[in-house]
Amino acid sequence: MNGNAAVPAPVPAVDSCAEVNAGEREVLRQRGQREVFCGLTGIIWLHRKIQDAFFLVIGSRTCAHLIQSAAGVMIFAEPRFATAIIGERDLAGLADANDELDRVTDRLLARRPDIRLLFLVGSCPSEVIKLDLDKAAQRLSKRHAPSVRVLNYSGSGIETTFTQGEDACLASLVPCLPAANANESSLMVVGALADVVEDQLLRLFGDLGVGPVGFLPQRAANKLPPVGPKTRFLLAQPFLGDTARALEARGARHIQAPFPFGVEGTTAWLRAAADVWGVDEDRFNRVTAPARQRAGRALARYQDMLAGRRFFFFPDSQLEIPIARFLARELAMTPLEIGTPYLHRQHLAAELALLPEDAQLSEGQDVERQLDRCAALRPDITVCGLGLANPLEAQGLTTKWSIELLFTPIHGYEQAGDLAELFARPLQRNTALAV
Ligand code: SF4
Repeated sequence: MNGNAAVPAPVPAVDSCAEVNAGEREVLRQRGQREVFCGLTGIIWLHRKIQDAFFLVIGSRTCAHLIQSAAGVMIFAEPRFATAIIGERDLAGLADANDELDRVTDRLLARRPDIRLLFLVGSCPSEVIKLDLDKAAQRLSKRHAPSVRVLNYSGSGIETTFTQGEDACLASLVPCLPAANANESSLMVVGALADVVEDQLLRLFGDLGVGPVGFLPQRAANKLPPVGPKTRFLLAQPFLGDTARALEARGARHIQAPFPFGVEGTTAWLRAAADVWGVDEDRFNRVTAPARQRAGRALARYQDMLAGRRFFFFPDSQLEIPIARFLARELAMTPLEIGTPYLHRQHLAAELALLPEDAQLSEGQDVERQLDRCAALRPDITVCGLGLANPLEAQGLTTKWSIELLFTPIHGYEQAGDLAELFARPLQRNTALAV
């Protein structure tokens, strides 16, 4: 092994296409060639969030290139991620590979005494799959306790999309959460949020009298939020199915709500928690009104430009349905197709109820067929992964990279205008280029 980096692998699959009924809605279910990034991508925003964590990818040169090029900005700082590349010599025997992993970890932790939490991140090359990273994490955790905790999860690109890396990472943290006080109700907000957004939400919950509030992931390794039967949790992201299941296994209960994007989504999300805490309507309105008004003014700046524009989502981030709801209801845009890699019907139930009834949903991907549908519809803006953006732009279509929805703070009232701007900017740019 050594430590370098690389590029996303295309994910193959079988070819079929069918209409299925998801509750009241027809969903076009697709299974074919997919164009998505793998779960390693999540390291890019997760390493910024947990400030004393380190992500050590156990992978190939491809994995190393993906991480290094996607997070290249860190080149000027001491990075908090790296790739231990499985090389020819490691294939001689798994015992050797484990020795080598121990040696790399010892060297890393000796050089970086600031690390408190080390994630061993698995990848999809077959030689990595053969390694038992679960056992390796337990062994290394014992060796480096109590100053460093070592956990593992998979960022493999097989049958996943890129946001599932965050789900796997957070699910690996759940068994480490301390037990909550059995007599005290608490709220946990689940999903990586920019610190500035976390602070805004904390203020709102504090003014509403909802709490105490914990966040997963947390900013520091030793600040894990407690969990127990009196913990209620709100999901801040729609792609956290495994994490939600792990929290429920520890007794926590999910609060069903739309996701906190835009004025409507944020209000409904806060309202869902406020209802559990018995906050009355007057107090709720008094606390949220100033932020709602600011967000409304910020959105108004984009409404003329975006109203009536037709949009098409290729499946990529799993944020497609809540963002489409925001675009349709708060900016009067028209959905042509809303593709999502995976439709979690329970977590998205409140969102599905708000989508325009005639919005075409699709789940999974058969990329050639979807490209044909997109070309025939000629949307005003197409939201897709990086691999599809250039070919679509070459056909004269305006695109938006879906990964920007993860890199940009877009949750909550104060970010509603920024979320609208993400969709206005490519259209403004094209208008400017046309004159
Ligand atoms: S985990 Fe798999 S899909 Fe992701 S970069 Fe590595 S080899 Fe490619």
